[in-house]
This record gives sequence, structure tokens and C-alpha cells, in this order.
Amino acid sequence: MPTETLEVLEPATEQILDTIPRAGVDEVDAAVAAAKAAFPAWCAVAPADRGRLLRRVVEAMEGAHEELARLEARNAGKPIASARGEIGMAIETFRYFSGAPERPHGETIPVADGMVFTVREPLGVVGLITPWNFPLAIASWKMAPALAAGNTVVLKPAELTPLTALRFAQLALEAGLPEGVVNVVAGPGRDCGARLVAHPDVAKIAFTGSTAVGRSIAAGAADTIKRVTLELGGKSANVVFADADVAAAAAAAPWAVFDNAGQDCCARSRILVQRAAVDDFLSHLKGAVEAIKVGDPLDPSTEMGPLISAQQRATVGAFVDDRAEVAIRGRAPDGPGYWFPPTVLWPVPDDHPAVHDEIFGPVAVVVPFDTEADAIRLANDTIYGLSGSVWTRDGAKALRVARAVDAGNLSINSNSSVRVTTPFGGFKQSGYGRELGPHATDAYTEVKTIFYNTEGRS
Ligand code: NAD
Repeated sequence: MPTETLEVLEPATEQILDTIPRAGVDEVDAAVAAAKAAFPAWCAVAPADRGRLLRRVVEAMEGAHEELARLEARNAGKPIASARGEIGMAIETFRYFSGAPERPHGETIPVADGMVFTVREPLGVVGLITPWNFPLAIASWKMAPALAAGNTVVLKPAELTPLTALRFAQLALEAGLPEGVVNVVAGPGRDCGARLVAHPDVAKIAFTGSTAVGRSIAAGAADTIKRVTLELGGKSANVVFADADVAAAAAAAPWAVFDNAGQDCCARSRILVQRAAVDDFLSHLKGAVEAIKVGDPLDPSTEMGPLISAQQRATVGAFVDDRAEVAIRGRAPDGPGYWFPPTVLWPVPDDHPAVHDEIFGPVAVVVPFDTEADAIRLANDTIYGLSGSVWTRDGAKALRVARAVDAGNLSINSNSSVRVTTPFGGFKQSGYGRELGPHATDAYTEVKTIFYNTEGRS
């Protein structure tokens, strides 16, 4: 047992929510050993039985839905309504992938002298490293397809928000998953996460987090030629043309960036508005932003909670400097808690960090553009490529722009990015690989090609 402990804070109060054992290198090694020992039996479970066991996990999570939602709301500082939705998504993710073991995979390919068929083999022990913004939801995007494909997992949640992952591991065991199939190590990235990346018995790392850490994970994984998928940062554009329903675009824009207090990899923190519509857009946006209710995550009427930590609040605050004007500022509580009001900057110089860098907090910039070509150029003027939106009543233009923006998830007259049933992931430095959707298990398997000689000629 680890002797050191991890104090888990509640961002809305700055008080200690829980004190848990802090995992380190030894605990990672023990978890990997347990996962390795459990792998042969787990991957040999018949497909229908593996699906049945995953559906029992779904039932266990349904039974604990409110408990998990309250834990997530308190630990991550998110509104209880959002937390309920996220736990609901985690449950739906397990439900969706519980069907995967029984779906066909592999191909037959015509060749001379026999037949070739491909099968998809599980990788073995898979390491999952996740961030603090959507703790159990993002963990489930990885765990559910990995387990469905026959792998065993070691999950390292973010050290700021490990509580729902730890509770999930108990629920999975109670639901009947064999010991060692799901392992959770709660500890810092620098030792716990880094050991998982370096461990020779870990076949793959599925990572969600910042681009900087993703880069170091890809480099660290090179030593053992580990498979890696990366879901990284973003700086997504919300492109509003003058021929759009500008009122609808403005009413929706706050939730495209202030949801989860802006701590969302898909946050559309650059709102590109065609010049002729800027005044109209801002006047509608003002009412929407000022109406946002920021406060106690457990109050059912709360729409936005605090930031995750004092450090995050300082990082976000640095984007609001005297080079950019604050056009709109919402309200936030005083007193304990890492509060930050929803803030819209306009006008902003082109070289301002808020225009180019991921903010990961409730700050948005409005940037004007003139032509369709300008909008595409500005939208692509970033190292990232995760999400984006296009608002216009011209369907052909909407499709042209959606195709021209270099990002993995675009929405037209909407800001939605993530669905359990459709692929999600980034272009450029937002990462590689896709999660969710019908092909997510591909990232947790190797293709094996088998030739069966039917003609006797060797
Ligand atoms: P982070 O990169 O600091 O940490 C993510 C995880 O990596 C944590 O569990 C952390 O402990 C671990 N880690 C840190 N250093 C490590 C190391 N050297 N080796 C191994 N593991 C290490 O990210 P964060 O601050 O928790 O989350 C915010 C970032 O995540 C933002 O950039 C955001 O855009 C990104 N994100 C991306 C997606 C997506 O799907 N693309 C989703 C959510 C968040």
C-alpha cells in the first residue's frame, strides 16, 4: 500500500473533499502486473459473455448514477445538471460498446492458392491517461472499447479528479468483471503516468490531455514502440456569417465556450463574425452571457461552476490584459472557490494570445472577417484542429467551409461535437486517432493476416 496520500480538493469551496492513497511507480507496476495476469482469461471470455459482463457494468453505473454525478460535480466543480449528463454519457458509452464483442470484424481477401482472412487481436494491457475536465466520461470513452476488444486496462485519472474513476473500479468489480481487468492508479503524471508510458508490459497508451504532455508521451512511448492515440488541446473557431440566424448563433455561442467553465477541449473560444453582423451579434451575445448563472455546482439552477484550481484561474486570468477590451463580463461569486466570470474580449489585436492559444477557461474573443476565404484562413490559423462551427443559411457555403476547416469535428448551425455513436478526434496538433463511434475498437486491436492454403502448394 502506498504510504503517501493525495488530498483531493473541492474547487467551489477550496476545502479537502477526500484524502486517498497516492499511487507511484510501485503501484503502477503492481497494477500492470495484475492487468497482465488477468488478460489471458479476459480475452478468452466468449464474445456474448463479455458483452453481458459489460452490460452488468452498465446496470451498476445506472444504480450509482446520482452518486457518481454528485461526486463528479463536487470534485470537478461542474454544475450537477452537467455532471448527470456526463455520467449518463459514460453509461451510454459502456452500453454502446457492450455490443462490440459480437459485431463482425476482419475481412476475407481473395488471393492465389487459398484464402486470406484478417482478425483483430486485443493488444494486452492498455494504459489510459485522462484529464480533469470530464473525468469519468473521457475515461469511459477509452475503457469501454478497450475492454470490449478483450484488453485489460490500467487507468491513470488526473490527480485533481480521481474520485469517480476509483468508485467506477469498485462498481465494475461488484458487477462481475474479474479482478485485474480494470485497475486504477491515482497519482501524479510525472511519476505514475510516466511509468505507465515507459512500462515494457503496457502495449498501448490512450491519452487525453494537453498538447505539451501529449508530445512527451509520444516521445516516451517510442522507446518500446508502444501504440499511442492522443486527444489533445484545441482552439476551435465558431464562424458566424452575416446571412446566418445571428440571434440563434449568439444565443448558442456562450455554451460553445463557457460550458464546463470553458475547460473543454472543443471550446469555441474564437468567435469569427462577419463584419456586417458584428454589432447585431454582440448585442444578442451580451444578454446571453450576462444571464449565465455561475455558482454552487450542487444547486440545480447553476449553469457554470468554478475553475478547477487556483493555478488554472491564474492561467486564465492572464489572457485578460490591458491589450484587449472586455466587451462583456458576466457575474461570478466572491469568496472561497476558484471563480471566474464569463468574459468576452473585443476588439483584440491579431497577435494577442487569446486569439491563438488555448485558454481553457471562460474567456472568448470576437474576431471580425470579411469574406468566406478570410473566415477559412482565420479558422485554420492555429496549430490545433479539434472542432468548429459554421453558422449560415447558405447550405452550400456551410458545406464548403466545413470541408475547408482543418479540424476533426465540425457542426453546421450547431455547436455539438461529441456523440457516443460517431468518431471524435483531432487534426494537426490536436492529436491522432479517433474515439467513440463504430470504429473505436480498432485503436485497441492489432490486425492479424492469416493465409489458409487450400491447394497444397507450399
Ligand atoms: P494534462 O496534459 O496536464 O494532464 C493530462 C493527464 O496526463 C493527467 O492525468 C496527468 O496527470 C497526466 N500527465 C501529466 N504529465 C505526464 C507525464 N509526463 N507522463 C504521463 N502522464 C502525464 O492535461 P489537463 O490539464 O489534465 O487537461 C487539460 C488539457 O486536456 C487541455 O489541453 C485540453 O484541451 C485537453 N483535453 C483534450 C480533449 C480531447 O478529447 N481532445 C479532451 C479533454 C481535454
